[in-house]
Amino acid sequence: MRITKRSEEAFEKAVHLMPGGVNSPVRAFKSVDVPPVFIQKGKGSHLHDIDGNEYIDYVLGWGPLILGHANDHVISEIQRTASFGTSFGMPTLLENQLAELVIQRVPSVEMVRFVNSGTEATMSALRLARGFTSRDKIVKLEGSYHGHDDALLVKVGSGVATLGLPDSPGVPKSTISNTLVAPYNDLEAIKALFQTYPGEIAAVIVEPVAGNMGVIPPLKGFLEGLRTLTKDDGALLIFDEVMSGFRVGYYSAQGYYNVLPDLTCLGKVIGGGVPVGAYGGRKDIMEHIAPAGSVYQAGTLSGNPIAMSAGVATLSQLTEKDYRYFETLGDALEKGILSLSALYDVPVTINRAGSMIGLFFNEGPVTNYAQSKASDTLFFADYYKEMINRGILLPPSQFEGIFLSTTHTLEDIERTLDAMEASFKALKS
Ligand code: PLP
Repeated sequence: MRITKRSEEAFEKAVHLMPGGVNSPVRAFKSVDVPPVFIQKGKGSHLHDIDGNEYIDYVLGWGPLILGHANDHVISEIQRTASFGTSFGMPTLLENQLAELVIQRVPSVEMVRFVNSGTEATMSALRLARGFTSRDKIVKLEGSYHGHDDALLVKVGSGVATLGLPDSPGVPKSTISNTLVAPYNDLEAIKALFQTYPGEIAAVIVEPVAGNMGVIPPLKGFLEGLRTLTKDDGALLIFDEVMSGFRVGYYSAQGYYNVLPDLTCLGKVIGGGVPVGAYGGRKDIMEHIAPAGSVYQAGTLSGNPIAMSAGVATLSQLTEKDYRYFETLGDALEKGILSLSALYDVPVTINRAGSMIGLFFNEGPVTNYAQSKASDTLFFADYYKEMINRGILLPPSQFEGIFLSTTHTLEDIERTLDAMEASFKALKS
């Protein structure tokens, strides 16, 4: 049996020091009723906790660690950069390097601004869209999560859905009065919003592959339809690729689906595990940002050298071959899960997009938030306990996807499937 004494003691202490004992809600593992695991170290696809347990990790820091934990080159670049100083508040060559890499690899991005988190990226992109169009309304989709910015904290997935919370107190009604919401993958509903508010919508913000209500790829024609609707109305299309960026494909989701937004938000992978975010897009729009233009946005630590060096070290190691490898791993996992599902009579739906995988305990299909919410969350919680006790660390929520890294192996997948079989057996007996 897994020993959890030290983690439990640490958490008991943490709840007196930090709200809920954590610095981000889902880390409290509340929805699966398991004590949070305190991590000691990671290497590749494996993590060790402070009780000495080892796990195959599918959380990967909630997405950034596409090269696995403690990648040698990333760590040595962070160390080298830190030895010169940690922050200057002045330009460095590293910012140019990461900007060039992002512009080369994200097809619609001609110019980029670095910030410190995905939340800052989406918040700033919205301000830019509103400033550029001189319009106030925005459209977001049910079950999408774009960070904890007030204007976007409406009908969100991720931690809010996991904890079963209503949309957050503390968000003034006036702040969200311009936020319009439609179901994911429902072009007709979004079309209706444009018909109701012609010329008033600044932007539609969308995760091109939704990753915060489990993983839900766009239905055929959805992203193309959004592109047409926004263009016809003079609104901007914003892809929130904070999660999908560099995960869905070598050229991110927009390259994979070949639909180009006006603005793109990035985070996670582009910081290689160090705090970062970015937004970028068409040059004529980006040049409205101060000091080139008048839309104000700034940051003491933005473009931080350690974050930039981790980002450069991460992006420069990724190759197109890695994305074919994710397909191999994903295929093996999907095939294995489907056969266990049939063998043990556990209904599942699997949605995949590159290195993002959604497993829903639900017969499916799962193409929107309502269908995702129909999953068996009680079964998920029981399954979660079984899996973690067998050394498989999954995101502690039915509404989060699992991530693959270049360091996951077919042997990891086999061990995961073995653990899954033992878990299903235990739960079905
Ligand atoms: N956008 C998406 C799609 C996300 O998945 C997240 C975080 O999970 C964010 C924005 C917010 O990013 P951060 O947590 O870095 O603020």
